[in-house]
Amino acid sequence: MSRNAESTAFRSALEVIRAVEPRVADAIGAELTDQRESLKLIASENYASPATLLAMGNWFSDKYAEGTVGRRFYAGCQNVDTVEALAAEHARELFGAAHAYVQPHSGIDANLVAFWAVLADRVESPALKKAQVRQVNDLTEADWFALRRELGNQRMLGMSLDAGGHLTHGFRPNISGKMFDQRSYGTDPETGLIDYDRVAEAAREFKPLILVGGYSAYPRKVNFRILREIADSVGATFMVDMAHFAGLVAGKVFTGDFDPVPHAHIVTTTTHKSLRGPRGGMVLCQPELADQVDRGCPMVLGGPLPHVMAAKAVALAEARRPDFADYASRIVDNSQALAEGLLSRGAKLVTGGTDNHLVLIDVSGYGLTGRQAEQALLDSGIVTNRNSVPQDPNGAWYTSGIRIGTPALTTRGLGTAEMDQTAELIHTVLTQTTAGANADGTPSKAKYTVDPALADKVARQATDLLTPFPLYPAIDLA
Ligand SMILES: *Cc1c(COP(=O)(O)O)cnc(C)c1O
Repeated sequence: MSRNAESTAFRSALEVIRAVEPRVADAIGAELTDQRESLKLIASENYASPATLLAMGNWFSDKYAEGTVGRRFYAGCQNVDTVEALAAEHARELFGAAHAYVQPHSGIDANLVAFWAVLADRVESPALKKAQVRQVNDLTEADWFALRRELGNQRMLGMSLDAGGHLTHGFRPNISGKMFDQRSYGTDPETGLIDYDRVAEAAREFKPLILVGGYSAYPRKVNFRILREIADSVGATFMVDMAHFAGLVAGKVFTGDFDPVPHAHIVTTTTHKSLRGPRGGMVLCQPELADQVDRGCPMVLGGPLPHVMAAKAVALAEARRPDFADYASRIVDNSQALAEGLLSRGAKLVTGGTDNHLVLIDVSGYGLTGRQAEQALLDSGIVTNRNSVPQDPNGAWYTSGIRIGTPALTTRGLGTAEMDQTAELIHTVLTQTTAGANADGTPSKAKYTVDPALADKVARQATDLLTPFPLYPAIDLA
């Protein structure tokens, strides 16, 4: 394929859009410019391939396809069947999973599918049994009452939010925290690492139906073999949400005890973070949960998005190629170089380093809140996000941490030398930012000052760092 094809494809697409609503075409073009110019260190973002992006922009979007491959509630789904079956096959092969369900629209939706599948599989409820075998009309009022009470009173044990867990693992702002009676396990206050003995203790006391492993802001490997043993010891179903690190599993950086797929009963993920596919979700599971998982739509999901499943098939095919394993190992090399660069300059890191794609800086070491640090970095052309640290004194809004990750910059081709320079830029900005005060003289958690000349200088240095690594080099919209 000529590289020119990519350029022609996107230019033509914008020309067609411009004829209808030029402001949308302009915004799409402006987004490419912004993404090209910013030093993107957001740990959950990436750059999908042109093939993945193009697979989404077509008439598959028009098709309704409720049901599963070969068993649809709509006619004329043979082409949707082709792409859904391909995406599922690539997912099974890539992760060595018995079953893959590729319909979830996002990571949260994948978790909802998994929660329902586990509840339906595990909760001993005669009413539910009736409902499941399609005798819904035979259910009495008392059955419905029992069903709601039984399903609504189950227990979930997951990683605490400030230790790096996710909202969907039973926390109040998410429906999971309203559906489940939740308890969480944290990390050791000294080392910042998961203390498996404490997890086992919590599991023995709490007897969860579901033990959840996985995180969005924990910079270390997790031993899924040990978590599975803990789940087994209390009869819990072991679920892993690998939304953040699926790319490291796909690229065989996390193997053996650190690969969740052979250990968990059910695994959920996004497809757009380190896995570098389209925005979406996916569920992998053991054979005994497959039937329940496949009921995701219409149980908790809207109709499948065939255009996104097509893009998932493309991205998963890319992830099965040998160069993806190389990409995944470079993500971790880069993140470790970034951590080293920060540590050697005196930064404080949660757990003292990283063995995955992300680094969590405790910015209290710079006398700043996460919010102040995030904004000062943004003024300097460096895009990160603030994040809680364990036992965060500043709460979930202001926070005391900055989370940075390397999947996106690694896709652009930056390497360990550039990571050291990135560490220098971050450290420079943070050491030269000062926390502000409120009108009454008390310290502000939001106000800060950074010399605009310094911010401009760092922003120029950040751009210079990116110049040798053009984003989508074959695409020229001018
Ligand atoms: C990002 C993330 C999600 C949510 O994914 P969405 O696609 O935004 O719904 C769920 N779980 C974890 C652990 C995540 O990191």
